Amino acid sequence: MRLILLGPPGAGKGTQAQRLVKKYRIVQLSTGDMLRAAVAAGTPIGQRAKDIMARGELVPDDVVVAIVADRIDQPDAKKGFILDGFPRTVPQAVALERMLTAKGVKLDGVIELNVDTNILHKRIANRVAESKARGEALRPDDNPEVLRTRIETYRAQTAPLVDYYRSQGALRTVNGTAPIAEVAAAIDRVLDPAPARKAARKRDAAKVLDGKLKVATKAAGRKKPVAGRSARAATSGKSDRKAASRGKTTLRKSKSRRG
Ligand code: AMP
Repeated sequence: MRLILLGPPGAGKGTQAQRLVKKYRIVQLSTGDMLRAAVAAGTPIGQRAKDIMARGELVPDDVVVAIVADRIDQPDAKKGFILDGFPRTVPQAVALERMLTAKGVKLDGVIELNVDTNILHKRIANRVAESKARGEALRPDDNPEVLRTRIETYRAQTAPLVDYYRSQGALRTVNGTAPIAEVAAAIDRVLDPAPARKAARKRDAAKVLDGKLKVATKAAGRKKPVAGRSARAATSGKSDRKAASRGKTTLRKSKSRRG
């Protein structure tokens, strides 16, 4: 399984990626995590990215593409991966396509988590408050001012990817505003529509059965006068005679067949 999770900061990409990693036994490739590790390690890439990240802007495409190209080549990514936070620009998406084509592999889909901007602000505010309460170190870019820039950057530079992947028929949009479990279920449905189709077939079968039952019940209702007729026939002896002659015919036919 090779997936892209697309969505603004606070859309829940990380949470859903962690679940999909367990489900499909694949790796999560988060460019944000990789860049933060590079900053922490003080590598040349980290030194280049540090201030850009702190401002909530995007690290240059060539830097990020090089990191991903390197990471995707690692043995643990052979079975599959979820790209979380990459690509973030159309040139990154084009570079990714080139990378995958060179490897002879294809993406299984692009999942967009769609979340209203007001909700994003609230979510990040909660995330910050929870991290503070736990005594954890805060991300330098998890503050209201930088968050505004990150969301604007998303709208300006990353959102065009929605149309880019939609035009390729690869985009699956999920409502990211719903509770985590519902978002997870919606992602599962778009990734594996088979169980959903099975449920729909069951519903259809139940409807057909229900329809047949209704027809049968109606027919049974119509049969009432038939019962009256057979009662008349019984008194006239017609029904018995008819049945007897039918029986004879059947008997004759089966005899002639045997003979
Ligand atoms: P994230 O953890 O995905 O929110 O990323 C944190 C920051 O890392 C972003 O605000 C960017 O500065 C940088 N970053 C992460 N991924 C990319 C990317 N694909 N292209 C450019 N910059 C990135």
